[in-house]
Amino acid sequence: MSLSHSRSHLLQQKAEAIFPGGVNSPVRAFRSVGGEPPFLTHAEGAWLYDEDGNRYLDFFGSWGPMILGHAFPPVVEAIREAAGRSASFGASTAAEAELAALVQQCFPSVEKLRFVSSGTEACMTAIRLARGFTGRNFIIKFEGCYHGHSDCLLVKAGSGVATLGIPGSAGVPPETVMYTLALPFNDLEAVRAAFAAHPDQIACIILEPVVGNAGTIPPAPGYLEGLREITREHGSLLIIDEVMTGFRVTLGGAQRLYNVQPDLTTLGKIIGGGLPCGAFGGRADVMNCLAPLGPVYQAGTLSGNPLAMAAGIAMLNHLIVNEQTIYPQLERATAQIAEGVAAIARERNIPLTTNRVGSMFTWFFTSQPVTDFASASTSDTAAFGRFHRAMLDQGVWLPPSQFEAAFVSTAHTAEDVAFTLNAAHTALSA
Ligand SMILES: *Cc1c(COP(=O)(O)O)cnc(C)c1O
Repeated sequence: MSLSHSRSHLLQQKAEAIFPGGVNSPVRAFRSVGGEPPFLTHAEGAWLYDEDGNRYLDFFGSWGPMILGHAFPPVVEAIREAAGRSASFGASTAAEAELAALVQQCFPSVEKLRFVSSGTEACMTAIRLARGFTGRNFIIKFEGCYHGHSDCLLVKAGSGVATLGIPGSAGVPPETVMYTLALPFNDLEAVRAAFAAHPDQIACIILEPVVGNAGTIPPAPGYLEGLREITREHGSLLIIDEVMTGFRVTLGGAQRLYNVQPDLTTLGKIIGGGLPCGAFGGRADVMNCLAPLGPVYQAGTLSGNPLAMAAGIAMLNHLIVNEQTIYPQLERATAQIAEGVAAIARERNIPLTTNRVGSMFTWFFTSQPVTDFASASTSDTAAFGRFHRAMLDQGVWLPPSQFEAAFVSTAHTAEDVAFTLNAAHTALSA
């Protein structure tokens, strides 16, 4: 059985004439799994609908934001209502402080914050701020971690970059990344060595506390605490990038799950309820270095956009009020799916390593434990590609790269779990 994609195919051809690769963000092009991406018309709850009338159970959730499923009525209503009052002012509104208060309720480490329009902007600015605050140039990031596509962070940056087999990116002058130290994840010794080699020169460590952009990789016990200790000892800032994990692995992100207090946090994805929104925040003394109070410049025409604020407020209010039911339910459904498919693979002697934290997970096509980018890279990406195509043909849309986390939403039902396991039975016998 094969689904028809004739309308999507025509649209893809048109798109390729005008967009490089036919897309406006590279991993959407399905290059690493093969085949052409279906063009979507709408989505509701956990289901995506395409131009050819096919439907797919969604396990990528717009790359993270859709934790409540698509077209969640309170979010839709909030956007509609805000749009009627104007899509943008470029001046302050009460909604910004309202969303900020909800963010602070979830992230007590955020004493002050600023809204931006993407995770890229949040991370780029957090780095500038850390450098401005400490007066130091070097930064540490980890192999396989993605913090958006700003120049100095585009080194060993996981997902899209790994998928395309480009080590960094063309167009980034070596001088721009000469202060970026990219170290293996889950290796405290490498971090200690870097601090020893660059005494009083390292402004910050930035990391994904649970890596999502190399596929899901949890931190080893004691790893985050170790980073906190080392940065404190050296007067360096710890930036936890919770763009993916924030409001996802717990309401208060990975910093709550692992009980570690960063100096700065970056947020995105869920925070805007599906609209373009990001934020960075943390210690007040650090945040007060930002213009207009301090010398670190940052600005944005659409920052704190009223539609994004309205969507974010509706989203976070729902998550906060229903926290006690939502997160255990996500945990249960995701465990059933992730471990259910792992069991099918075991029955068939297919080497598969399943990593999961809350409602984010990855099936790595390798027999090795995956604890860093090097071990993730042992995956058989061709086997993942075949699995991806076979699942899509059964109506299950997984993230189109071995090196991306899959997400479950509150809209995924017990029936959807059964549907997925059934599809995997077929896909893994192909
Ligand atoms: C998605 C992501 C970003 C970049 O966010 P954009 O909104 O795509 O710019 C940064 N960091 C992490 C951890 C992400 O998952």
